[in-house]
Amino acid sequence: MQVIFSDRAYTAVMTETMEKIRTETGGLFLGTVVDDKWYIIETIDPGPNSIFTVTYFEYDQKYTEHLINKIAKLYDKPLDLIGLWHRHPGSYDVFSSTDDGTNTKFAKIREQGAISGLVNIDPEFRFTMYHVAQPCKYKKIEYKVGDELIPPEYLKLKSPDKLKDKMYTILNKDEIIGELLKINREKGGDNL
Ligand SMILES: [Zn+2]
Repeated sequence: MQVIFSDRAYTAVMTETMEKIRTETGGLFLGTVVDDKWYIIETIDPGPNSIFTVTYFEYDQKYTEHLINKIAKLYDKPLDLIGLWHRHPGSYDVFSSTDDGTNTKFAKIREQGAISGLVNIDPEFRFTMYHVAQPCKYKKIEYKVGDELIPPEYLKLKSPDKLKDKMYTILNKDEIIGELLKINREKGGDNL
């Protein structure tokens, strides 16, 4: 089992850590799981209304739900919520009982479980990745970083042509429904 970060997803973990360097912070992973390889394509930041303290952190759930949908829509292939990460104070690189609860919830989402990462700065940036099997069984796993390690189709964005076609279809559908309503009205009917 191995975790592979896109350059962008890994950079986002580091910039988020840097931005909230004095407190805990975290984020969510969007990606896909293929043959025991966990490809993390995007990292979602926790949002402006998260709670950040030195020993505790909570996501802004409304914001993360919104952003997950927006970001996932950019990609050609579907992206799933496959894990999460957060910062811990000092060298504390195991999970608290609160974390166990969160990790259990995430592991339940999919058959393969979830990925949960911990960032420590002691004194340098250190990232420990765990696989969480159901219900809450941890196994430390290796990770690598690099777009070149990811099959290109998982990094591919939706093509402008496909998006154009889709827009056309949506509008056309509205037009057809509009036409039907008009015909129906002319016939004297109130509703379709
Ligand atoms: Zn924690």
